[in-house]
Amino acid sequence: MNSKTVIVVGAGICGVSTAIWLIRMGYHVSIIDKGKPGMGASFGNSGLLAQWAVDPVASPDLWRIGPKYLANKNSPLFIKWGYMPQMFPWLVRFLKNATDKGARHVVNALGPLLSDAVDQHKSLVQKTPLDGWVRDSKISFVYRDKKHFESDSYSWKMKKTAGLIPKVITGESVQEEEPILATNYRCLAVLEGQGHISDPGQYVAKLAEHFISLGGRIITAEVHDLQKNTEGKVFGISTDKGTFACDFAVITAGIWSKELTFRLGLKIPLEAERGYHVIFEKPSVVPRNPLLMVDGKFGVNAMDMGLRCAGTVELGDHKSGPSAAPIKLIRKHAGRAFPNLTFSGTQEWMGFRPSTPDSLPVIGELDGSGIFVGFGHQHVGLTAGPKTGYLLSRMVAGQNPNMDLTAFDPARFSL
Ligand SMILES: Cc1cc2nc3c(=O)[nH]c(=O)nc-3n(C[C@H](O)[C@H](O)[C@H](O)COP(=O)(O)OP(=O)(O)OC[C@H]3O[C@@H](n4cnc5c(N)ncnc54)[C@H](O)[C@@H]3O)c2cc1C
Repeated sequence: MNSKTVIVVGAGICGVSTAIWLIRMGYHVSIIDKGKPGMGASFGNSGLLAQWAVDPVASPDLWRIGPKYLANKNSPLFIKWGYMPQMFPWLVRFLKNATDKGARHVVNALGPLLSDAVDQHKSLVQKTPLDGWVRDSKISFVYRDKKHFESDSYSWKMKKTAGLIPKVITGESVQEEEPILATNYRCLAVLEGQGHISDPGQYVAKLAEHFISLGGRIITAEVHDLQKNTEGKVFGISTDKGTFACDFAVITAGIWSKELTFRLGLKIPLEAERGYHVIFEKPSVVPRNPLLMVDGKFGVNAMDMGLRCAGTVELGDHKSGPSAAPIKLIRKHAGRAFPNLTFSGTQEWMGFRPSTPDSLPVIGELDGSGIFVGFGHQHVGLTAGPKTGYLLSRMVAGQNPNMDLTAFDPARFSL
């Protein structure tokens, strides 16, 4: 048994995974969250274990597609213009990375973090009540036709460098593969060997219950600051419910990690890519495997609570409530793509993808302080959460994580 105490801030997929790996190593572990586990971005995502999502939105293709999106009110890119002056420096850095060199850097870094995600999830839940929650599946990227698929060739070229080569299905075979799709969709790019979760919010909540069953403690409190001694080592976490002592701390607070690390004197450029979902309850039809609607930029996953369509990007703040337009767009695209879909009702949701301008998460220790961070996973936090947790637990223990983590180093933003 290890007598050291670790406090993990944030009970999303990254925090709960970290806490489970740490408690399995014998640490005394508490998680502090201002709400219930799994209610942040981890609640409403598409549930896709996206081992394929190695290439970033900030690619050279963005220079071609971006202006078209901005000019088209039916595009899946939305902007909260009032927030743009604050977001401008992040946006400039994001766009500067939209080069071939920038995209290849992301593919090389994300590849090792994502490539075994399904196995990482399985190993997290093995011999727990969650055994069986991680489903193997294919993913089909849905295109209007072959030409539309070919227009996405840069993304597929990048995926190929990570060993991801799709089977391309065209014509009427598309509806044989996925009968839910309208007949005007004439091309699918199918990747085998992927996975999904059919209720991501409950998945994280149940993982948190498992953590408690291992002796872990969950404290409901809002973290205000982390306290360091004169040598710069963390010794406590101050919250609205008092201060909690610790030997190590891990910040896995999603988009809100921005404020917490700012209070520690760091200026990590983290902004929200706001995303939305619509759940069609009691759907009359569902896809055989999860889909990625390329036109609408949303995932489609048959979940326990209904057919979830989740995605779109709205650049903006993480304080204000949802906008109507992205939800409207998802509904419109879903109506067109699934003409035979009937349902009993709908639910809507918005969440904040925590995104850095180089499209890479921030994973590592802050300057020998005993404070570790694991956030900024943008579109792939569900996928990469368990591996991030595993890596962080090894780092806390001072063990070699056996993976080159240079690209994720928090210090890259202080240069
Ligand atoms: C529409 C949409 C679809 C997506 N689809 C996918 C997908 O299919 N696959 C995929 O891999 N990813 C997907 N993502 C991304 C994924 O959801 C996120 O990257 C991931 O959930 C981030 O997890 P996290 O643990 O870092 O943060 P969160 O889940 O946001 O958790 C952070 C936690 O920290 C807590 N917290 C914050 N501040 C404090 C504080 N001061 N004190 C105490 N607690 C605090 C919050 O309450 C919260 O519980 C999607 C995202 C969206 C929005």
